[in-house]
Order: sequence, then C-alpha cells, then structure tokens
Amino acid sequence: MTRLAVLAAASLSAGRGLEAAEQVIRAGLTQLGARVLEGLLAADRGYTGPRAGCDAGHQAEFVSYRGKTVDTVLGPVAISRAWYHCAACRHGFAPRDARLGVAGQAVSPGLRKMIARAAAAVPFAAAARLISELAGITLTGKRAGRRAEADGAAAAAVIEARAAAIAARRLVPLPPARPLPDKLYVCIDGTGVPMIAAETEGRDGKGQDGKARTREVKMAVAFTQTSVDDKGRPVRDPRSSSYLATFAPAAGFGTLMAAEARRRGAGHVRQLIILGDGAAWIWNLAGQHFPEATQVVDLYHAREHLHDLARLLEFMLGDRKQDWLAARLDELDNGDIAAICAAARTFPLTGSKAGDLDTALGYFEHNACRMRYARFKKLGMFVGSGAVEAGCKAIVAQRCKLSGMRWSLAGAYGILTLRCLQASDRWEETWTEAGRPGAA
Ligand SMILES: [Zn+2]
Repeated sequence: MTRLAVLAAASLSAGRGLEAAEQVIRAGLTQLGARVLEGLLAADRGYTGPRAGCDAGHQAEFVSYRGKTVDTVLGPVAISRAWYHCAACRHGFAPRDARLGVAGQAVSPGLRKMIARAAAAVPFAAAARLISELAGITLTGKRAGRRAEADGAAAAAVIEARAAAIAARRLVPLPPARPLPDKLYVCIDGTGVPMIAAETEGRDGKGQDGKARTREVKMAVAFTQTSVDDKGRPVRDPRSSSYLATFAPAAGFGTLMAAEARRRGAGHVRQLIILGDGAAWIWNLAGQHFPEATQVVDLYHAREHLHDLARLLEFMLGDRKQDWLAARLDELDNGDIAAICAAARTFPLTGSKAGDLDTALGYFEHNACRMRYARFKKLGMFVGSGAVEAGCKAIVAQRCKLSGMRWSLAGAYGILTLRCLQASDRWEETWTEAGRPGAA
C-alpha cells in the first residue's frame, strides 16, 4: 500500500493528472488482490486421497499436482491442484476445478459474468475493449465471444430444463405476487438472423438464388395489464415484460412459451391473451397449450395485410386506391371483416389475380374471430403489440443483425438468451444456476 501511495504521488506530482493516479492505484490493488486470491486457493489443492470418482462413476487415480492459470476479474491467478486420471475413460481431471467452476476452461466465473454482460450488449471486439477499459482485463474479442456464447448456451440449457420440468408438472411455478394482475399477454413473433453458410445449407429462402441466408428465431414476450388510462386505453404494468427467443421448431418453442406463460401466472390471472401476426403455427400452439386464451391478431400486422390487399387491387382502383384503403382500415378498426371481404369481392377478377385475391382475403376470413378489434378495445384490451414487439425485435436486430454479421446457430442462441435475460431483468437467477461450479 505504501509503495502504491508513492507511485500514485509520483504520478500526481509529475502532472499526469488524477486519472493516471487512479489507474496506477487500481492496477496495483488488482495485482495485490490476485496474490491474495492465489494464496487462498493454494490452501486447498483438492486432494481427496489416492482415488477420486470420475463423472462416469469410475475410480480415478491420483497422478500429481498440476498448475493452471485462471483469468479472473483480478487478472491471471496461478493455481495448483490435484490431478487424477481415469484409466477406463482415458481422461484426466481435477476435482478442484469443478468446485471452482473452471473445469475445462481458464476463465473464472466472475470474469465470465463480466464478459457475458458486455458481449450481450455489444459486438465481441467492442466488448473486449469495454472490459479492458472498465476493468483493466485484456482479452481478445474472439475469446470474449467464445466464452459468452458458451455461457449463454449454458443459460439456455437451464431455461430449457426448467420448461421441460414445468411441462411435465415436476415443477410448479409459484403464483404471481398479490394483487394478481388482471390480464396476461403473450405476444409471439419471428424474425430472421443472418447465418454462416453451414447453418443454412439446403434450406430454401429469400436470397436472390432462392437459398436461405437467415434462420428464423421465434420470440415471445409476456407482460401484464391491470388498468386502463382515463381514456379507457390499456396500460402495460411497468417492468412486467419478459422475453424468450429460440431457433427451435414450433413444438420446442411451444414448450418454452407455455412454461414462461405459466411462470408469469397464466393459471391465475383472469384473462390470458395470445397476440400474434396471424401465422397458423402461432394459433396451433395457442390452442394446444392454452385453449382458454383469447386469440388476437396484432392490429399492425392486419393493417399491413390491408395495404397489401390495396396494392393487389391497385390496377382496378386507380386514383381511388387511397380512399378505398382508408375505408377498409376503418372497417378493420371496427372488426368488420365481412365488410372488407365484400368490398374486395366486388371486383370481377379471373385467373391468377382471382387466386391472389382469395389468398389475401383468406388471411382475414380465417382470422375474423381474432380481429374483433372494436369489442376488444371496449374491453380495455391491447390489440396491437407494437411497442412490445419493437422491444422484442430490438433484442435481435440491435445485436445480431448488424452489418456484415454472420452467426452460428448455437452462438446466436447463446447471445440472444443472454439478451433476453437482461431485458427481462432475470439475469441473476438464471446465471447463478447456469454458472454454478460444476455446471457445463
Ligand atoms: Zn471414468
């Protein structure tokens, strides 16, 4: 401490300013901390006798003490621990590593958390620079990315295991805190994430050559609503949104979504509402997991479909297109789907145009009961997921769809999981379980 004070004083008197002195002191304290930690870790080298049980249940033999350097929030720390070898598995391990949470890797749980937080927020190279600037720890963007993706995958595995337990009724979520929220909304949507070629091989898509460049991530956001404002418009309960994202097919997504809805009180609130863009897989899942829920097609998606319909009929409507569209949008707001279909069917179309019209109107006809917007609004319900959906998309777009980005499926899943945890304010509980010593 005295030496540090002398160094800092020298820095200050040399006119290098307060910041230089701060940095000198922090670097010194961090180094001191690393030596303290090293001393503590040296006290227990994890010797459990001449034999130790391996993961597969064999008895492994003690070989020797081996050294390893672990990167921590205090910088590199050298440890020496008992090394065992399992003849049956032909592999060696240190029981101490598992207890410290550094089995098979050289980054401490504390530093991993720091890396994961930064890498969830910004691209890997920028995350590494942030950590260097804020914590004085030097690492490459590549290493930061590998660690964050792997730890995000571990968090995803925890979430999936919990969802499976809830689905099997082995785990029953506690009811939400009283007073119970009145309505629980689950909004479901999908968006594409750009992938490396290996992840899209053989998949059809929207690329110019007809090949896929992206994989669809399915997202859900759950939030509650208890009140309406003085104009009768619904108000989302503050800080009530929780997010999930997965590349799994619909069935796997359904399990995760249903577990999240139950965790949020689906079995306790007065009304459960599923909001979606009108895609059939969403309503299939809703019917399968929550047949009692009210289904609502997101109004903004429905409006987009009306714009498409007007474009389809543009060659007949000519100058009247805008007026015609405005009238249909009013009908949509009133939930009068029959009027929309009747107005569109006054045009005597034939051939492929008639087929296109049938397809366009099919969207409205199949979803008519989910578009009773006037009634839903009268009941004080949300009918559009605009703001929430924007939040949902922001989780993906602002981190995974930046210019030039190409992801592996596992990597994107890991990072999106971390971003969902962050946006849901559920980081600590899941991270602790995923990062506990011994977890993969
Ligand atoms: Zn073994």
